[in-house]
Amino acid sequence: MQLHEGKNMDVAIIGAGPAGLSAALYAGRAKLSTVVAEQGVSGGQAATTHWIENYPGFPEGISGPDLMQRMEQQARKFDVEFIHAAVNSVSRDSRGCFSVTSGEGEFTAGTVIVATGTVPQSLGVPGEDKLRGIGVSYCATCDGPFFREKEVLVIGGGDSAIVEALFLTRFASKVTVIHRRGELRATKVLQDDAFSNSKIEFCWHSVVSEILGDSKVEGVTLRDVRTGDTRFMEAGGVFVAIGSRPDTGFVESMVDTDERGYVITDDRMRTSTPGLFAAGDVRAKSLRQVVTAVSDGAVAAVEAEKHLFERQRFSTRDKH
Ligand code: NAP
Repeated sequence: MQLHEGKNMDVAIIGAGPAGLSAALYAGRAKLSTVVAEQGVSGGQAATTHWIENYPGFPEGISGPDLMQRMEQQARKFDVEFIHAAVNSVSRDSRGCFSVTSGEGEFTAGTVIVATGTVPQSLGVPGEDKLRGIGVSYCATCDGPFFREKEVLVIGGGDSAIVEALFLTRFASKVTVIHRRGELRATKVLQDDAFSNSKIEFCWHSVVSEILGDSKVEGVTLRDVRTGDTRFMEAGGVFVAIGSRPDTGFVESMVDTDERGYVITDDRMRTSTPGLFAAGDVRAKSLRQVVTAVSDGAVAAVEAEKHLFERQRFSTRDKH
């Protein structure tokens, strides 16, 4: 549905990942006029996760795209509007009403829920930008099938890196995990799976200092962080999984953040600006999972409803 200029909504949700879709479901079901703005594909990073084993209610697991499609369908049942456009700015006037400017024009909202998640961190080494999309990837689920029978590298030692490495073994002939330390950060269950997978090798205490190739990736220069020695390692693809950073550019000046840029909220998802809530991976929190994101989204929507009610109550009282 196309939003027309000047339309006033109760709730504007920015981001259609698990947190945003859960917030949309709760807000729509509470009969609040609700719009979700998403610049990319609905479902966020969860929609690029091949298989999700730890979301309750699916004992056999469920594919990320399937789970996220179901969440969107459920929200749409409650008359939530979706716009596919980037939000460029959010501002708040003296009456506490928000103006949201998106690629589809400007509209106002009584509350805003920021559920923009995170974007993958890049390595920042020579060759990375040039070879992005032609051998350098940040998403194994999206690009893995292009690397059939190739030897690929995964950079990182956290959950993402190991999940990516395990997924890539379906296609690649060999997956080498390059990690800057001598032990993984990933959870034990993932480590056990990776250590017992014959297609996965590990290259410890090493970082990539350059990605090499002209029209495709041919290999990398590896540096041993203990000795400083460098060497060439041949590879047909490089998957970067070294963490993410929060996507908060358009509300940076309106919210308090921690030292890594994640939005600080209380347990009611309230940010430092009244009426502006944050939910999901974009928040400063200890566990970033689909299950915690949907919980955040539900809390944010319920708190948004309370905020609208209080605002309405005060404005009615002021008129009398
Ligand atoms: P992460 O936990 O922050 O791990 C990032 C990894 O990359 C670390 O091993 C880190 O090394 C390494 N690293 C960081 N900067 C680097 C650099 N410049 N060069 C080389 N290596 C670098 O990030 P994540 O793995 O993306 O996970 C993020 C969150 O999502 C976590 O809370 C995780 O539990 C969650 N997650 C969960 C699942 C799941 O449950 N299935 C899947 C994916 C993500 P050090 O270890 O030395 O710091």
